[in-house]
Amino acid sequence: MQRGRVLYAIARRILEEQDRLARLESQDTGKPLAQAQADAVAAARFFEYYAGVADKVLGSSIPLGPDYADFTVREPLGVTAQIVPWNYPLQIASRGLAPALATGNTVVLKPAELACLSVLELTRICHEEGLPPGVLNVVPGLGQEAGYALAAHPGVNLVVFTGSVATGAQVMRTAADNIVPVLLELGGKSPNIVLADADLDDALPVLLKAAFPNSGQTCSAGSRVLVQRARHRELVDRLAALCHGLKVGPGLQNPDIGPLVSRAQQGKVLDYIGIARDEGAEVITGGTPLPGADLSHGNFVSPTLLDGARPEMRVHREEIFGPVLTILPFDEVEEAAALANATEYGLVAGIWGRDVGATNWLARTVKAGQIFINCYGAGGGVELPFGGYRKSGFGREKGLDALLSYTQVKNICTRI
Ligand code: NAP
Repeated sequence: MQRGRVLYAIARRILEEQDRLARLESQDTGKPLAQAQADAVAAARFFEYYAGVADKVLGSSIPLGPDYADFTVREPLGVTAQIVPWNYPLQIASRGLAPALATGNTVVLKPAELACLSVLELTRICHEEGLPPGVLNVVPGLGQEAGYALAAHPGVNLVVFTGSVATGAQVMRTAADNIVPVLLELGGKSPNIVLADADLDDALPVLLKAAFPNSGQTCSAGSRVLVQRARHRELVDRLAALCHGLKVGPGLQNPDIGPLVSRAQQGKVLDYIGIARDEGAEVITGGTPLPGADLSHGNFVSPTLLDGARPEMRVHREEIFGPVLTILPFDEVEEAAALANATEYGLVAGIWGRDVGATNWLARTVKAGQIFINCYGAGGGVELPFGGYRKSGFGREKGLDALLSYTQVKNICTRI
């Protein structure tokens, strides 16, 4: 009960300080202020949600006949090391911190060097609201040093890693030496499949929002649209018109698209657009740092639509992590499923259409941890289990499923 009270208090303080936290994260990462505000609210919601379940981590009783009493308990794992990326520092730190604390674990948190300010502030709030000393510890530092040391430490009982596939694999290998379990939340190349009978008025604004949250630097961004050929032209034209209306600018001015987190990230995204051109894709909108601006004005990439992509192209298969949306037409529903599954990832998928038979068949066939039909909630809020298939990772965060990730089952059997 005491744990729940502290978590509620942290949630309330995050909401009280949300403007400050949001401005800090916007300045640190470049993300639009409204997005940073929403992140602060989501961070508070994680603490509120898991505060409510802190005293409801239940076991089960297993009937073995009259001679035995058998039951299970869920125990904390112990010390969790949590390694956080730069794209949603406050939200992702809260996503792992709240269920870990609710279930009685301690946490050593490593934020990303590129963006750690909001995580440091969150730590201050946690301590001011009564988290006992030693329960939460923050270790800023480079991934190769501080992150590696945590993953390799024999005193750690669970490594929670959110980041790229390459680093995730390295973390897994490092933790393997101590037989320490890992929870991996990795990248994505999530498709939105638009069937010919979809309501485009409904779908288009959501497709745009899904593609460019945090300027596309989102693991669950809907970065591919697969559209049935009959609606292809219409969809491209209408999406292009919507893209032209997007405001690009500094995060604190609350644009639709902010600068990317670093010059290196901007360079990577522009390189991908160059590769797409070389491979024969058509750049419908964007494709440049920012119309009228030179590179010295910030790490901008204007919202970019790529049409005429083919399944074998790198821009269709690889995570770009910027404001780039790739469009591919298909003929039959089976082809849509094959295209959706033609990447190594499997984080989220959206399906748009009125034929319930077709949308449900796709939902069962597409390999992804989260499916949205006629909607797209990147990440899916706090209540829904979130995690990857395939190289998008394993283990589940969010919702009640996260309680399984942060506890271990003990079975206790008594002969009566
Ligand atoms: P990254 O380069 O893999 O870094 C992630 C974190 O790992 C950072 O804190 C980094 O530290 C640290 N790190 C680097 N090398 C390490 C090592 N050898 N051992 C331990 N830790 C190490 O990823 P990123 O570029 O920051 O983030 C973008 C990626 O994260 C994308 O692929 C995105 O899809 C994914 N992501 C996934 C989710 C999800 O929930 N599925 C959410 C957000 C992002 P430093 O950066 O400080 O050096």
